[in-house]
Amino acid sequence: MYPLLGFLLGSSWLLFIGSPSGFGLGSNWLLYIGVPLIIGIWAQIRVSSAFSRWSKVRASGNITGAECAREILQAAQIHDVNVVETNDFLGDHYDPTKKQLHLSSNVYNTPSVAALGIAAHESGHAIQHARAYAPLKARMAIVPVTMIASQMLPFIIIGGLFFGITGLITLGIWCYLILLVFQLITLPVEFDASRRAKIILREMGIIQPGEEAVGVNKVLNAAALTYIAAFVAALGNLLWLMSIRDRR
Ligand SMILES: [Zn+2]
Repeated sequence: MYPLLGFLLGSSWLLFIGSPSGFGLGSNWLLYIGVPLIIGIWAQIRVSSAFSRWSKVRASGNITGAECAREILQAAQIHDVNVVETNDFLGDHYDPTKKQLHLSSNVYNTPSVAALGIAAHESGHAIQHARAYAPLKARMAIVPVTMIASQMLPFIIIGGLFFGITGLITLGIWCYLILLVFQLITLPVEFDASRRAKIILREMGIIQPGEEAVGVNKVLNAAALTYIAAFVAALGNLLWLMSIRDRR
């Protein structure tokens, strides 16, 4: 989990408000800012509705997300990863630097189809890490520079667009390029974690074929959509900023 989607959608608004030419850029505005915003909001609605629907369905295996993650890690011979509870809603993620698997309370304590799907997905990241899965290593390597780029971006956009400093617009383009590369590397990492999760849940008998398996697929596929939306948003923001620079 943990896409930069919310951040990217926020920066789309900022880019739009800050562009003096605004609608003057015509169809570019719709294509680079409008369409990604709609896709992003739609993906967020899809993921929260899939989660809320399938978190009401109790899996017959009757184990919580935390128990599910611990069982999967044990079966994969991973003994140095801690499964911990976090209060952030949908804040589930695996932290490779601390070897900690963070599960939100709704997942940690609940034996629902949604909780098991997410717990298995995060365990999938821990397995990727233990097996030195190359895209995960690549993503870890560019996390620091991605953090710097995303922290600088609001100031760069405000300085570049609101105060008309062209040098900052060029810097902003570089920042979006970094975010775009990060989102691109994120795609195989996330798809692979979900692919592993579905196989493991079935093979370990944690999720039964039929309705339970369908629910896991719906939740994980909706989550995958948010990563595609974040990639589209990063691409749209980058192209928009480039078209603004070209008009100056
Ligand atoms: Zn993930």
